[in-house]
Amino acid sequence: MNSLDCSVDVIDLPLTNPIRNAFDHTECDREVVQFSGCIMPHGALLLVNPEQLTILGASDNCGVLFETDALKLLNQGLDSLFDASVVTTITYGLAGIRLGASPRLVGHFVCRHNRQLFTLLAHRTGQGYLLEFEKLPSGYDQQSVIQQFAEVQYAFHSLQDAHNWLGVVQAAVIELKRLTGFESVTAARFLNDGSFQVIAEARESGLASYLDKHFPKSDIPEPGRKQMRQMPVQHIPDNDYQPVSLRMTEGGLSACQVDLSLATLRSISPMCRRFYQNMGVRARLVLSWVYNEELKGFFNCMATVPLQVSYLQRMAYQAYTDMAVRVMIEKQLRQEHELALELKRHILAIGNDLTATHCLDDELVSLPIKLCALMQASGAILLMHNQTATAGVIPKDALLTVLLPWLSQQPNCFMTDRLAEDFAPAKPWVEVACGLMAIRLTDCHEYLLLFRKEWPHEVLWAGEPQKPLEMDVNAQAWRLTPRGSFDEWKQTVTGLARPWQTHEFEAINDLRMMLTIALNTQQLQQLNARNQESNRELESFAYTVSHDLQEPLRGILNFSEFLHKSLEGQLSEKQQTWLKTVMNLSTRMSHMVKTLLEYSRATEQPLSIRSVNLSSVLQDVVENLSSRCVEGSIDIDVSQLFPVVDCDSTRVAAIFENLIANGIKYNDKPLKQIKVGFLDTVPTVFFVRDNGIGIKQEHYASIFEIFRRLHGRADYGGGTGAGLTIARKHVERHGGQLWLKSILGQGSTFFFTLGKSSTDKCSMTANNLPGLAT
Ligand code: ADP
Repeated sequence: MNSLDCSVDVIDLPLTNPIRNAFDHTECDREVVQFSGCIMPHGALLLVNPEQLTILGASDNCGVLFETDALKLLNQGLDSLFDASVVTTITYGLAGIRLGASPRLVGHFVCRHNRQLFTLLAHRTGQGYLLEFEKLPSGYDQQSVIQQFAEVQYAFHSLQDAHNWLGVVQAAVIELKRLTGFESVTAARFLNDGSFQVIAEARESGLASYLDKHFPKSDIPEPGRKQMRQMPVQHIPDNDYQPVSLRMTEGGLSACQVDLSLATLRSISPMCRRFYQNMGVRARLVLSWVYNEELKGFFNCMATVPLQVSYLQRMAYQAYTDMAVRVMIEKQLRQEHELALELKRHILAIGNDLTATHCLDDELVSLPIKLCALMQASGAILLMHNQTATAGVIPKDALLTVLLPWLSQQPNCFMTDRLAEDFAPAKPWVEVACGLMAIRLTDCHEYLLLFRKEWPHEVLWAGEPQKPLEMDVNAQAWRLTPRGSFDEWKQTVTGLARPWQTHEFEAINDLRMMLTIALNTQQLQQLNARNQESNRELESFAYTVSHDLQEPLRGILNFSEFLHKSLEGQLSEKQQTWLKTVMNLSTRMSHMVKTLLEYSRATEQPLSIRSVNLSSVLQDVVENLSSRCVEGSIDIDVSQLFPVVDCDSTRVAAIFENLIANGIKYNDKPLKQIKVGFLDTVPTVFFVRDNGIGIKQEHYASIFEIFRRLHGRADYGGGTGAGLTIARKHVERHGGQLWLKSILGQGSTFFFTLGKSSTDKCSMTANNLPGLAT
């Protein structure tokens, strides 16, 4: 048979949806095919006791093999049938066979009386060892088998060369037809609903084609599928065979109790035989596609005449099939992966635009158009509280009004390829809104909806898949019968959209997250802008108020003093105390107003930035402070040579002055030591360290609040509690940060920068400053 004579067809696969309720019968699923009680006639079978190896059962045709009646074999030992050397070989072969493992090749044997060559396969069931003597095909010779192995090996190349997974299937059917010599080889894959479809075919011209045809799930009932997983190679040399019964020992198991699940010779179910008879098939070799223990499909090699394939050849074809399945799945995964990657790239670009944009609303408006093209959607709607953007063909508002409340009960990302089936009110819109992918953006009915229109298409069945019923007289029940005709039967499928793919779902889920981030960022930015605006208003109000209050306050203070002087000696003690209290309070208020004004200036007035030599700034600050500080011994160390930086010198001087003054003020040591220095980092970190009283960590934040003091009003020389607030304002206006580390009772270090930094401020501690451990 020349493979060039055959026609090879591969269909271009459409995306498939599981067709719900399609010709799905389960009656055959209960058929107990593995206990058929008989075998095919191209071999003989013995069931032997696992310990003594005595014969518990024998197929009726054992007479041919052993020149004796099957019944006479029962209860005999293997030594009564074989020479001692053969018994040793068999015993050796049986050792180590695991329960439930597939049949193992024990050896080849020549029948003594007729020189017929047999392959002995053995496996272990719970009932004993099953020895299967399989006749070797006529004309079998070891040499050609070895040659075939080499050819199979060579045929692997064409699998690798295929461009895509379907190409692998195509190459495999051609090679298998050539290698096996069957007239037709089809490749079928199982679909999600259990039905299967022929996706590639190589056949002799003149034979019926099954390409693209679908077969209902009931054509391979569950026991058959289980069998295909367990026994990836199944062979029927001649479908028109006469089953051979098993003879069993008296009082032991009956023939129908012998577990033949893994027996290569097991007689197949009558339904299956009739099915292939109706198809005109005499010989078959089925090679299952098992991947990760899942049955994905199978190669079906068929001939119109009897054709036997030896065990060794079958093993070679199985190895070839396993390899083909691996390559096929690897290519399929790669194809899917590439598609997914491509889509992810586009979605990421959209996501980046969304998060980077200054005008999110504009980006959102164009989102439905972009997604329609990317996701092969026929329409898209973005529903946000302040806007609705649409693209393509979309359903009317009437549907949305009822759809949105229903969607709120569904997961955040929801998809269907049959909306009307899942949500009945969508029926009138089946043409435009058949498939739906919906992502919820927020909890208040904000959605991105992608629609796919209806995709009416035809499914070709190999014959009317609804099988006729017939009366099973034994079971007294109606049973399905195999189809008599396999002529093309068209089913028009409606109410379905092209199914969404997993990678599309994942990509849109990613987009959902990016959209949520973009929306949150937008909200934060808006909030920030509002905060800044109200802060600015508040600060300018504070400035005006503190400025305008000064005048009347000064008046109150002056007139109180006049009153005090002019009434001297005329006031009672009590009246004098009252008047003094008025003066004290006015003085305090005046201080506070001044401080407030100072703070407002720190925020309101523009900075005067220029190159400043910080060493000379610090020299002035230290001189100024030293002249003010008279009490106790003070050591201010400013020995480092400070850099020249661009800053507002008055404000930076104020920062240093405040920090150094505090270091002196909040210090109970006889020698008050202050170290002023900087770290050579980017940006430069300046620090002022003292050996004073220290600050508890819980007060690190509150000491920067305006008018906040940790001590009594007059303690530690008093103060308004605004020094640090103003210092921090100065620092922030330079784009820097101010923070501290302190150990109670030992001292504090205040750090600040004068420019933007990616430095994590918390990583800068007094302890990791060289030579400064507090
Ligand atoms: P003031 O010194 O006028 O009270 P500040 O804003 O400068 O206001 O400081 C706020 C509070 O932080 C102070 O009252 C004091 O309790 C605490 N504080 C500031 N600097 C130090 C320091 N170097 N050591 C200990 N405590 C300090």
